[in-house]
This record gives sequence, structure tokens and C-alpha cells, in this order.
Amino acid sequence: MTRRDLFVAAMSPLGLGAVLSRRELDTPEQRAAYLREMLDALCTRIGPRPSGSAGFNKGIALVERELRRALPVVMRDSLRFRRWAVTGKPHFIVGDRALETFVADNSPETPGREVSGTLRKAGQYEVVDAGGRVVARAGISEFGRAIVTMHSGSDGATLFNVGRQDVELLERAIRDRTPVRANAKVKWIDHVESSSVAGSLPGNSKEEILIVAHADTKYNTPGANDNTASLIAMLMLAHAIPAAKPARTVSFLATTGEELTFFGAKHYAETRRAAGTLGGIKYCVNLDSLTYGPNLQINTTSAGLATMILDIHRDLRIGTAPKVFERDDTMDSAPFLASGARTVHLNSRGDDARTLPLWHRPEDRAETIRPEFVESSFRVLLELIARLQTAQNL
Ligand SMILES: [Zn+2]
Repeated sequence: MTRRDLFVAAMSPLGLGAVLSRRELDTPEQRAAYLREMLDALCTRIGPRPSGSAGFNKGIALVERELRRALPVVMRDSLRFRRWAVTGKPHFIVGDRALETFVADNSPETPGREVSGTLRKAGQYEVVDAGGRVVARAGISEFGRAIVTMHSGSDGATLFNVGRQDVELLERAIRDRTPVRANAKVKWIDHVESSSVAGSLPGNSKEEILIVAHADTKYNTPGANDNTASLIAMLMLAHAIPAAKPARTVSFLATTGEELTFFGAKHYAETRRAAGTLGGIKYCVNLDSLTYGPNLQINTTSAGLATMILDIHRDLRIGTAPKVFERDDTMDSAPFLASGARTVHLNSRGDDARTLPLWHRPEDRAETIRPEFVESSFRVLLELIARLQTAQNL
């Protein structure tokens, strides 16, 4: 597809997709080309897509267009929320060293021009001012350099995320009582609209298989691994499932708000509850970061679902090492677990040293995606949707 086609399609009025124009995704080469094209559009040309931003709106419009091409029924699930955004460039300066830092989502700003004090360690690092008050905190990234986390909301101190490479400097600053200065400015915008998009292929029964992938990113990253490549895998499935009327309805949901408080999936579940159709969702498969490695991490409390996914790996000779974790879902499939569906949350591992340091970082870019990880996930998931059509008592 040329850029002009993309532009014309994006400008087309909604509803045009009633005439299906499914993408040919029959071969690994066609799928790899689709992956590249969509990663380029979403990650490279649009970039970060935090919920409520112009980037998110552009991205979700593209996702909606693809779902309309692939499926006969597409709906937007719109909501309003109070949006947090950082303004200007925050600083966290120890002595004369400005550390790389990202302010945590939903963090309060620092009062005045900046706050200052000395460091102590109490779980996180705390900046304590001359009056003994904690005026800022510094959280250390799990995997490497500074990331964006979420402010807990339980205290009024600004949370700065810094990288592991600066721990030694922070420890020395505690011993030497080195002065620290920090500044972050944020704004809250009321009544920002955002949407999840859902597309369905209605089946003969009201029983439904729901595939979910979040379409938002943290504000500092194009989010190629988290979660754009998985979102594209979901769009590939929407194009590739047999167009004939299935026994059970198959639906695909691209959510907003996952990176904040999972509010998109929760809102969609409430929309379905109000429509009286939430109980029809029998299975829910949440795709989040399928490209950290070749090996699917299968998080589910349904032994039947876990076994089915492992069997598929064996039967299709996928050749990776999937791993089952028996735990309840706390992510975008949580509202569907709560409403009685069998749910599984899929993540991945296996290329950890290369991929995990990308998490919530600006470097999580299109070119870091290994197409073979998307391909193996796609094959497993297409077969999973087929087997769930006839599954009983999982
Ligand atoms: Zn994610």
C-alpha cells in the first residue's frame, strides 16, 4: 500500500468498511510485510500514543480502519477521563549531575521553581528538604535505564524514575549529603475523550471468543514491543480468520487506557454489561508484549486453556518453549475473568537481555521487533481461535 492509499483510507468516512477488503495474509512473507507496514505507520510515523493524545487518536483510527476491512461489525467504545501530561523537561540534579529521568504517570508536580534537599533511602530514594519533609522520590528501573512508571497516588511527592546506572551515584550522595534539586511540571486536562475499538465476526451462537490487545503506549515511547507488535498480530488474526460464519462469535478489542489504570477494558466490559451481552464472552485472550522473545508466557488459572495452548505448540511444531504460570489475570482481561469468562494473559520471554531494557523506553522502536516472534504467536493464536470454537468445559 502506498502512503497515498493509507491517507485516503484514513480519511474515508466510517462505515465504508462494510465492504470487506481483507488483506491477503496467507504466507509468512505477506504477514512480515504487513507487520513492517503497520509498525512503520504506528511506531515510526505516529510515535508515542498515550491515551488521550493526538498520537493515540491517529493510531486507533488506523486500527479501526483495519478492523473495518476485516470484519463486518465494528464499534467504538468511547469514554472520557481526566488526563495527566508532563509539561517541559523535568530535571533531577545530584550535585552537578543531571540524571536521565522520566516523571511517573499521574505524579504531582514539584511546587515552586524546584525542590531541593538531601537524599535518604526508604525503599525508594527520597529527597528530604531542610524542614524534614519528603519533597520528591526517585524510583529505580527494574531493567536498566529510566522508565515511566505509575504514581501510586498515595502521597504528594513527585516520583522521578531514574536508571540503575545511577544507583552508585545516589548511594554516594546519601553518604556525602550531596545537595539534590528537582523539578517537574505537569497539567491535568478534564474530559479528554478516548476510545477502544472492537470488531466482530458474528457466529451462530451468542457465545464469544474475545481477543484483546492494548493500543496505548507510555508517553515516552513508540511502544513497538509494548504493545504495538501484539496489536498488529491481533489485526492479522482479524484478517486471517475464515470469513465463513463461525459457531461462536469471534471479537477483537483494541483498548485505550491499559498503561494507566486499565480503564478502557473496564469501560468496554461495562458497555457490554449494559447491552446485556457481557455474559456471552466465554473466552478472553489478552495479548501483551508477545515480542520479548519466542517463548509465550501463558498466565491463566484455567488448566484447560493452558493445556490447549501447549498442545497447539506441539501439534504445529512451533519449536519454542512456552511456559505456564498459574495465576489470575490483573490486566486487560481482568473484567472478563470477573464476569465468568475463561481468560489467559499472554506475554513472552527468551530474548530478555536485548528486549526487556526497552520496556517503557524511547528505544522501544519498530526496528527492534523480530518478525519471527510475531509469526509464531500468530500461528498459535489462529489455531487457538479455531479450537476454542468447539471447546467444552475448559
Ligand atoms: Zn503493555
